[in-house]
Amino acid sequence: MYQELHDDVSRLLADTDLNFDFHDSDDDINCTKMRNTNIMGHFTCYNSGCRFKGWASRKIAITIRLYPGQKYNARVYHQRCKFCNSLSQPVLDESYAERVTYWIKQWNGVQVEKPPISGVSKGPHNRQLCEGCKAGRCTESGDDWLMQLQRLAKFMSSFSSEFTNYCSD
Ligand SMILES: [Zn+2]
Ligand SMILES: [Zn+2]
Repeated sequence: MYQELHDDVSRLLADTDLNFDFHDSDDDINCTKMRNTNIMGHFTCYNSGCRFKGWASRKIAITIRLYPGQKYNARVYHQRCKFCNSLSQPVLDESYAERVTYWIKQWNGVQVEKPPISGVSKGPHNRQLCEGCKAGRCTESGDDWLMQLQRLAKFMSSFSSEFTNYCSD
């Protein structure tokens, strides 16, 4: 988890009355709200023997949770290097705080614009390399039939000849 990004979250909540603390443990039992979505960032391969230095991802799986007593947290799922399979923790960009505050506001009845996150990735999502898929938390994992349907509907209505990965929410 990225407790160090809590300051960014607090800053983005400053224009509302909402005041949230970071909850240390990301358990399902006590959380009142939960949302699987995705953010952007980049990964470094720390395996010194690997020729691949790193990669950027526009589909980093994240589970945002709300807890009683004005608390929240977010689990960010790691990805594996496609060349050596080493697990890597991402360095996140501002999409983390934007996504987290978007849902905190949404859940608390604050009117919000969707953050300007495109979610359009250049290549197909590699489920083998995504820990979010493994945990069944990734919006690309294909477990959520509703999201699949929404994606299909968007695709059908676009009549696009290109196959594009849409942001699924
Ligand atoms: Zn590697
Ligand atoms: Zn995934």
